Amino acid sequence: MTTQKIPTMEDALAVVQRDQPVDRTLDLPPLQVNAKHGDVLGLSDQEVTVRLASIYRIAGHDPALAQRLTDTQLRLWLLYAVNLLAVNREAVPGFDFKGALTWLVNNMPAEPVMPAPNRREFELQVLGRTRWLRTALKAKVARLPDQVRQQAAACYGPPPSNPNVPSGPGASSEQTPPLDKDLLRKELLPKLQNLLLNHVVQWSRPSGREPRFQQWEDLGLIARLAQTVAWQTLQPYAAAREDGPFFTGFDYFSKIYDKTRTLPTEQDLVKHLMNRAYVAGEDTSAGKSVFTLAGYDSMRSDDRVFLFKTLGQWIAEQPSVRRLAIYFFQHIGSSTHAGTDGGGVGLVTEFRTDRPESQARWETIETIVHEMAHNLIHPNLLAQVDKVRRPMVIKEGFIEVVTREVFNWMIDNGSEASTKRLMMGVEGQLVPPVRKTTLGYAESGVYADQIFQLVGRERFLTAFFTGDIELVGLSPS
Ligand SMILES: [Zn+2]
Repeated sequence: MTTQKIPTMEDALAVVQRDQPVDRTLDLPPLQVNAKHGDVLGLSDQEVTVRLASIYRIAGHDPALAQRLTDTQLRLWLLYAVNLLAVNREAVPGFDFKGALTWLVNNMPAEPVMPAPNRREFELQVLGRTRWLRTALKAKVARLPDQVRQQAAACYGPPPSNPNVPSGPGASSEQTPPLDKDLLRKELLPKLQNLLLNHVVQWSRPSGREPRFQQWEDLGLIARLAQTVAWQTLQPYAAAREDGPFFTGFDYFSKIYDKTRTLPTEQDLVKHLMNRAYVAGEDTSAGKSVFTLAGYDSMRSDDRVFLFKTLGQWIAEQPSVRRLAIYFFQHIGSSTHAGTDGGGVGLVTEFRTDRPESQARWETIETIVHEMAHNLIHPNLLAQVDKVRRPMVIKEGFIEVVTREVFNWMIDNGSEASTKRLMMGVEGQLVPPVRKTTLGYAESGVYADQIFQLVGRERFLTAFFTGDIELVGLSPS
């Protein structure tokens, strides 16, 4: 038995102090936020009521309604929130203080997150949801200098000669010749087939040896970790979209399904082939790309439709290619972008056989991060995909930039314990992870990285999360 030390007054006060929200400066580079939660702490109940009434008045409500707010926790939450905004409103020109108060009063949380020392969840939620962060970033992050804007713009490919030319059906842009359909078919399909073959052989195993699968729960743990890390490391950007996924119940793991055990529809197959057709079509490792040679212009919907149909015919006419495409579908991670339901994320659960399982797991982790990033890109930025000549730069290259940010953080801040969790269910030797330096998707990744270097991390992540596309050298049309 141990003797209990009798607590002194200092001990008790230290505990009280520890759990109190404190005045402090929050560093959210490039932003700084002053939290003066102590202002609220000293208020009497009566003073709280008076303040609440004036908050309701500013928010455009009958101040008498404030009387009905009797929940102690919520009363304090609202005061802390308004105080935080009041203290920081001057720092951000153009911030709609009244609008923010109206939002707060109308969206009182069912389970309020209160300010707490060493935590910034309260501040991120209040500043994010009331648009303070978005407005602050807009004011703080410098616009692109003209010269840099031009350099960045060039990475998306040559612009249409007439920016007013629509990209709808039948539209043509004057800079590219018409599509040479025979040439496209003849050159692209063999390249695409090679790409599929090279992918599929990574799972080959001696006959009689059973395949091994990654456990669903292990991948769930990784998905949840990826979401937490993204939220923690990509601030203040991740919280700057007031209606973004992090604020609207985004639960990454719930979107995931096991692709290895899913039978694709014809539509699924052709979509997957489309994605790879762009990789094959834009490849310049052996000289001019097939797309350039055939005059394929991804901004012309006629060209896109032709390619889609060609791929559909290809798998309809050749059963062996179809089998290859199905196997490919079942062995590649992917996300679908959907409007309302948010789409789904398919993961490969089967272990590859051409490398240690632990290496395959690190790759799965990177894929999990990559597919999550697809869910985080602002729709306004994603919509630019159809307006540039090199759509894959945004569609996959930008995703790779964000993947690198999150994945490398996970590696750099990993511990023995966290590595153990990430490697759960893995057999054989443990190989160390490799930091992500170059981006995937060949040339598209290179261009995306160039844009990232040109505009800088601040502008890039602001654009990625808030959809302010001018910051990455795109112009609103
Ligand atoms: Zn992707």
